[in-house]
Amino acid sequence: MKRIIADYHMHSISPDARIPMEKMCLAAIERGLTEIAVTDHVEIYAPDYQGKEPLMFDDAYLDRYFVEWEHCREKFDGRLIVRRGIELGQPDCNRENAKRILEKYHFDYVLGSIHKLYAVDLAFKHYSERTNDSIARKNLELLYELADIGDFDCMGHIDLIKRYATRQGQQVSLMKYPEELTAILKRLVERGKGLEINTSGLRQGLGETLPALDILKLYRQLGGEVLTVGSDAHRDTDVAADFDAALELALAAGFTKLALYENRKCSFYSIAD
Ligand SMILES: [Zn+2]
Ligand SMILES: [Zn+2]
Repeated sequence: MKRIIADYHMHSISPDARIPMEKMCLAAIERGLTEIAVTDHVEIYAPDYQGKEPLMFDDAYLDRYFVEWEHCREKFDGRLIVRRGIELGQPDCNRENAKRILEKYHFDYVLGSIHKLYAVDLAFKHYSERTNDSIARKNLELLYELADIGDFDCMGHIDLIKRYATRQGQQVSLMKYPEELTAILKRLVERGKGLEINTSGLRQGLGETLPALDILKLYRQLGGEVLTVGSDAHRDTDVAADFDAALELALAAGFTKLALYENRKCSFYSIAD
C-alpha cells in the first residue's frame, strides 16, 4: 500500500502551539514525510469586536511566520518541502481583513476553518439537547458561507463541532442535516475546493477523524476530488499522527489521490496501488 507523504495541517508559532517550526520539520523528516504545510492560525474577528485577541494575529506575527519559514526552507532544502500555509478562522467575519492578509502575504495553501460562531469559540458553547440544534444550524450557515464565497483552498475539520459536543457528553453530527451538508459539499465541488481529513480527533478522545467516513464518502459521491490529510499537530510528537488510519479512510471513501499545493495551485499524488 502506498503512503501519505505530506502533512497539510500543523502549527508552529500559533498562540496555542508556540513550537519552533524547525522542530516540526525535523519531526516530519523523522516520520518519512517529504512535504508539509505549516498552517498557523490567523483568527478573523468582526470589525466591531471589542476584545484583545485580534492583536495576537497582527502583521508582526505573520512577519515572524515568514522569518521562520525562510529559515526552514533553506535549512531543509532537498530534504523536506515546507509549504507556506495559513489556517484562516471564519474569514467571512471580516472579508476585508482576510483579503488584505492574502494579498499582502504569499501563501501556498489556505485552510479555511470555522472555529467560532460570532466571536464565541465552538469549544466554549454550551451543548445540550436544547441548544445542539441551533448551534449546529448556525455552524452550517457559516460553513456554507465559507464554501460559497470564501477565499481558501481546503476546508479545515468540517465537523469540528462534534469534538466539543462530545466533550460535554453530547452528540452532534452534521450528517443529521443532509440537505445543508450536501449544499456545502456541492459548493466545494463546484468551486474546486477541497476537504481535509483531520486526524486530531483520533488522539483527542473523539475516536474518529474530522470528518469521518460518512462525510468523506458523501463529498466523493458528489464529485469531490480534492482531499488533504492533516494531523493538526500543535507539538512535534503529533506530526503525521494516525496517517495509516487516514490513508485507509481516504481509500475507503473512494479517493485514489491526495492534493498538494504550491502557490495555491493544486496537484495530486497517488495513494492507490
Ligand atoms: Zn482549526
Ligand atoms: Zn489547526
